[in-house]
Amino acid sequence: MKEKVLGVDVNTENYDELIPKLFQNIEDKKKSLVVAINPEKLMKAKDDPRLHALLNRAEFQIPDGIGVIIASKLQKGNITSRVTGVDMMDRIVREAARTKKPIFLYGAKPGVAETAAEKLIETYPDLIVAGTQDGYEKDVNKVIQKINEAKPDILFVAMGSPKQELWIEQYRDQLHPTLYQGVGGSFDVLAG
Ligand code: UDP
Repeated sequence: MKEKVLGVDVNTENYDELIPKLFQNIEDKKKSLVVAINPEKLMKAKDDPRLHALLNRAEFQIPDGIGVIIASKLQKGNITSRVTGVDMMDRIVREAARTKKPIFLYGAKPGVAETAAEKLIETYPDLIVAGTQDGYEKDVNKVIQKINEAKPDILFVAMGSPKQELWIEQYRDQLHPTLYQGVGGSFDVLAG
């Protein structure tokens, strides 16, 4: 279910309810984009119609940031707990390992995505990392080809927001993965 918060759709479900929906879309080969909604993004979207439309077009908007919960409470809505981008990524990775769905990490400085992948495999030994790519390669076609040839089901893009969401939206028709999440600086955090 979704609820409007400052004009932007936000999902009301918690992690346990969202994960089966995300993975059912993978089974159905239905592309979906997960965007984390926080007050900063809502403020940016207020003055940026393109970002506003993009956020509303995403298939899943998770309530990251306590401000979103407070706004929902004030309007007597149904969003009661945070679903953060970083925790959502962790849940997706855990389920990907369990169901053997390959993931691809795209973004951050050279070497960071590889280290993040190693850390994830330490936590989830069954995880299949189809590939990694730093976020500074200028040749977009090369990046798209590399991702598609690796055949991941899930693509995490860590290039900061809204750059990562704009990138996913611009190229999603050419990309083969089914599940997409923009994860900001998460690869840096994972790599430590
Ligand atoms: N980044 C990238 N390519 C770019 C710009 C940024 O891969 O062209 C990466 C950067 O290395 C960092 C991540 O995006 O790992 C998040 O960047 P930033 O902290 O600027 O974004 P925020 O987390 O504030 O949205």
